[in-house]
Amino acid sequence: MATNYYQRYLAEGRCTKCGGYLPEGYRYKECDCCREHKKVLRKRKKAEADARKEAGKKAAKKPGYTLDELSRMARERGISYGQLVCELDGSGS
Ligand SMILES: [Zn+2]
Repeated sequence: MATNYYQRYLAEGRCTKCGGYLPEGYRYKECDCCREHKKVLRKRKKAEADARKEAGKKAAKKPGYTLDELSRMARERGISYGQLVCELDGSGS
């Protein structure tokens, strides 16, 4: 079982991830290599989550404008709602 293996490695002073022997008095449960790997994974996960959030924001309606506001703006400019949305998209806002 995963827990037994973890406990055993922990008791033996080995990296709980790869089982590599750790230096005496090492203060981490995992070796440098595994900790580095974990850090990279975490960073990548965060970057992915950020990218997803960013994509979600872009997919959402224009921030700050309600549908009513958009149609009113379109009316004021004498263009259609669709044209206004295209215009806003084009300006990169
Ligand atoms: Zn390791």
